[in-house]
Amino acid sequence: MTIKTTLHISLVALSMAGIATCQNNTNGLAQQVFAAIDSRNDQLKTVNQEIWANPETAMEEVHAHEILTNFLEDQGFTVTRSAFNLSTAFKATYSSGEGRSVSFNAEYDALPGIGHACGHNLIATSGVAAAIGVKEALEHQGVSGTVVVLGTPAEEAIGGKIKMLDAGAYKDLDCSLMAHPGNNAYGAWSRTLASWRANVTWTGKASHAALAPWQGQNALDGFVAAYQMTGLYRQQLMATDRIHHVIKNTDNLVTNVIPDRVESEWGVRGTNRARQAAVIEQLNSIVNSSAGGTNTTVSLIKVQDYWDQNPSFQLAKNYYDNLIEYFDPSKDETTSKFSIHTPEEEYEAGGSPSASSDQGNVSWFLPSIQVGFPIGGSAPNHNSGFTKVAGTDFAFDQSIVTAKALALTGLEVLQNATFAENMKKEWEEMIAKLQF
Ligand SMILES: [Zn+2]
Ligand SMILES: [Zn+2]
Repeated sequence: MTIKTTLHISLVALSMAGIATCQNNTNGLAQQVFAAIDSRNDQLKTVNQEIWANPETAMEEVHAHEILTNFLEDQGFTVTRSAFNLSTAFKATYSSGEGRSVSFNAEYDALPGIGHACGHNLIATSGVAAAIGVKEALEHQGVSGTVVVLGTPAEEAIGGKIKMLDAGAYKDLDCSLMAHPGNNAYGAWSRTLASWRANVTWTGKASHAALAPWQGQNALDGFVAAYQMTGLYRQQLMATDRIHHVIKNTDNLVTNVIPDRVESEWGVRGTNRARQAAVIEQLNSIVNSSAGGTNTTVSLIKVQDYWDQNPSFQLAKNYYDNLIEYFDPSKDETTSKFSIHTPEEEYEAGGSPSASSDQGNVSWFLPSIQVGFPIGGSAPNHNSGFTKVAGTDFAFDQSIVTAKALALTGLEVLQNATFAENMKKEWEEMIAKLQF
């Protein structure tokens, strides 16, 4: 609700900002930026394939880290490897002097067992390509400012961006831009759900299940009681809330022993942090009650806290306008089948949050967008079918088109002071109203 109020205000300013947008990204500059990216097409394709063909899971992305940092160094960026106390994170910078700073995220972690089923190879490729486009304008076209690529590991597991935020990676930046592949839709103003995970462990007392069950305290009963109470609580959940849970590490569970320990992982998602907090509060009450009622003890340790993603409308609108002006998907027979909505329509739909991302936390710290681009296929993200599609030439080409439009958005922030000011003001108003 608070988001909508804020954005209605911002939409008024938006039309003015939109006029300024196309003046600065003159066609000539845009073509120079595109040519710079195109001239590295073969190298970018190799980088993309290397990451895709050698999938590495969270915090194991050694090869991707090496490929990307070597490539960016070759391209003239100043590179810090293993940045922000994370072995597989990096920072690459190019500056032409005074002015604003824009950043692009490169993700490159894969999923256990199914490779690049979320297409993060394409996120790395689009982030690096966009930065190369901006660097061309800084180096050869008289634009002043700084472009940064942040290599952000472990999105699928521990939230590399959150650790990088804590270590100061996003301070002194004016915006954070990135792109994520999906099946069949373009997205400019895309939200994500807040996602929280915790390890919940019940501890009891083991005893022989036949000889002396009365001497045991059944940790499994603790879990089952909480599971059932959560099921009852679902009637009071909103349609956008999610609670999901699994038992883990079950080697100690055998039929003839009263279980003394049950480990589990619980996830709670909500459309925003405020709603999610209400659900988590009830969940805490449930697990404590389950322990009390089964004569066991329980511990709950938070392991993940991805905040809801609240994109900058101005950035989204600028990106969308760039995409339509230079690469209108409806005019290309390979892309006209994919759905595309204006940022205004996406806003009216509430940003259609479904999955979650550590870019959500970034979006609370500075103006940002995570745009979506389609790579086709019918298999959804996190399915092995998606892995195959993420390695195709078409997917690569889509990541490059996205990078070009995103590079122009970065340049708008660097070149257009009024746009940058409006972006910051709109974002400050939005975040102020989201606080709870
Ligand atoms: Zn994913
Ligand atoms: Zn992903």
